[in-house]
Amino acid sequence: MIENTIDPVLIDGFKKAVENCKKAVVTCHISPDGDAIGSNLALALLLQNLGKEATVITPDDAPEDMAFLSGYDSIISYKQRPEDADRIINEADTIFCLDFNGIKRVGAMGDTLRNAKAYKVMVDHHLYPEDFCNIVISMPVMTSTCELLYRIIMQSGHSELITLPVAEGIYTGMMTDTGNFSYNSNKASLYTIVADLVERGVNKDRIHKLTIGTSPENRLRLNGYALAEKMTLYPEHKASLIILTKEDLDRFNYQVGDTEALANMPLAIPTVIWSTFMRQEKNYVKISMRSEGDFAVNILCTKYFNGGGHANAAGGEFKGTMEEAIKTYFQIFEDFKQQ
Ligand code: 5GP
Ligand code: MN
Repeated sequence: MIENTIDPVLIDGFKKAVENCKKAVVTCHISPDGDAIGSNLALALLLQNLGKEATVITPDDAPEDMAFLSGYDSIISYKQRPEDADRIINEADTIFCLDFNGIKRVGAMGDTLRNAKAYKVMVDHHLYPEDFCNIVISMPVMTSTCELLYRIIMQSGHSELITLPVAEGIYTGMMTDTGNFSYNSNKASLYTIVADLVERGVNKDRIHKLTIGTSPENRLRLNGYALAEKMTLYPEHKASLIILTKEDLDRFNYQVGDTEALANMPLAIPTVIWSTFMRQEKNYVKISMRSEGDFAVNILCTKYFNGGGHANAAGGEFKGTMEEAIKTYFQIFEDFKQQ
């Protein structure tokens, strides 16, 4: 048995939102990861099993390695089909906002989401939720939105709604947001949940193989190149910096998701506790930071790079050139010296 840890008032609100909805949209943050896609598909399938219309709309494209999940082919990418997505969002009576805490996190979809008349429900595990939803179930103690979703369903007394495809979505998010249970993963109850999901038929070895355990050739080569040629260490700061320019990305035929694991890798070096990765995007520089221990990178991403996130995994979008982003990074060193 899993302990009830969610405020019963919120559980009640969530149940009512599900009961009342007829046409739902389920959505997540830009550059969706396993937790975003896993939670979105799990909830959409659950709603569909209850006879509701439910559409998953992602701000941009869902990563291809999630294609094994049921419902993946029905996902609408706002980037590919903005008019259809706008219409569906405007027609929805309920919008479930999963795995993000602010309008800024859905990119170009933000205005439509903000202005939509639908009843909005947030289910998320990021710090500092913004005030744009009617119900906010925000629990940063959860390893993943998928773990939180599982607990909401169980605490609602609807274990039977966790069918195998729903369980697969939930497992995928729990696994990817903990790096296959390698960080943020010391809570014993996580394994009670995993055991339950496996009992429901989840093949965890297969999901590992299809997600973390699979890499197209170009991705492996790009990551190898990034580590060999594009990583600089700053031992006095216990820091590392990887920079990938447009030229680097083009050379290895970069596809969305190819650098998902890269920011973590330098932390394998015992002397590095703060890893930064910068990737050139069309109109901005994408920043990813990872850290170990008490060194909180969400503070740095918020202060310097227009971003945010968790203490040990954060990111941001820097509206400027790569040169300016690098200059800003070195400014952090300077500011540390001042302190
Ligand atoms: P990643 O580096 O994998 O893109 O993101 C790691 C974590 O940082 C995400 O789970 C998210 O919490 C946060 N994050 C990434 N990019 C942004 C951003 O642009 N703004 C905010 N507020 N958080 C971000
Ligand atoms: Mn998440």
